[in-house]
Amino acid sequence: MTWQGFLTTFAALYLIMVVRYFMVSGLFYWLLWVRPQEQLTARRLTGIRPDKALILSEIRWSLLSSIIYTIAGAIIVEAWKAGGTALYTDVSDYGWWYVVASLFAYLFVHDTYFYWTHRWMHHPSVFKYLHRVHHESRQPTPWAAFSFHPWVAIIGSIAVPVMTFFVPIHVGALMFMLIIMTVTGVLNHTGYEIMPDGWLRGRGGKLFISAAHHNLHHQHYRCNYGLYFRFWDKLMGTDVMESEYEFLQREPQIV
Ligand SMILES: [Zn+2]
Ligand SMILES: [Zn+2]
Repeated sequence: MTWQGFLTTFAALYLIMVVRYFMVSGLFYWLLWVRPQEQLTARRLTGIRPDKALILSEIRWSLLSSIIYTIAGAIIVEAWKAGGTALYTDVSDYGWWYVVASLFAYLFVHDTYFYWTHRWMHHPSVFKYLHRVHHESRQPTPWAAFSFHPWVAIIGSIAVPVMTFFVPIHVGALMFMLIIMTVTGVLNHTGYEIMPDGWLRGRGGKLFISAAHHNLHHQHYRCNYGLYFRFWDKLMGTDVMESEYEFLQREPQIV
């Protein structure tokens, strides 16, 4: 690995990260917050409308955090090129079942790591130094998906890269996981619940986190710390959700 190679990879990845962020966050911001929204207000999670200063702050922190995530990504790519990771490209190496199993294993480990580091960041002695930035968004917008203090971004970008050195994962599965990370990061901060009623009331809503779940974390702080799954919140008694489904009953209204 050379510095020049690393910097080239870094520049290319950062460009992809930023374009990805503006495309996905921008799309959902436009869909949910800019367009006339009579049909959507029933699914709006709070009456708070974030102001322009907050949105600009969310974008600034997200672009800064993306530098950290890009460094983590560039390390993986360069280490892979040098043959130093457990990434592989031939599905037949472990079979299709392993592609699926490894994806879930990565998601579960990432979720576990996120849950416990997130809970730790809510400890009063560390909250103001690390995690306060993310909670400046009392009602987040899609732009808050990566709105973290750089130290939080550093802590958050350790688990997955470390795993790629030890736990084999197909490159396609890892790319798919990055898409899941992006989409869930944006969707959980939209301020609207867009998943269908059937999903929310069914097994999907019981297992997976959605916007309504994470929005409650931004409102109440001391609940719903998870990232993808409700597993750890339920196990540790920090899950708050069931009583909040009444928003599904609301009639569309103009606000
Ligand atoms: Zn959040
Ligand atoms: Zn938090």
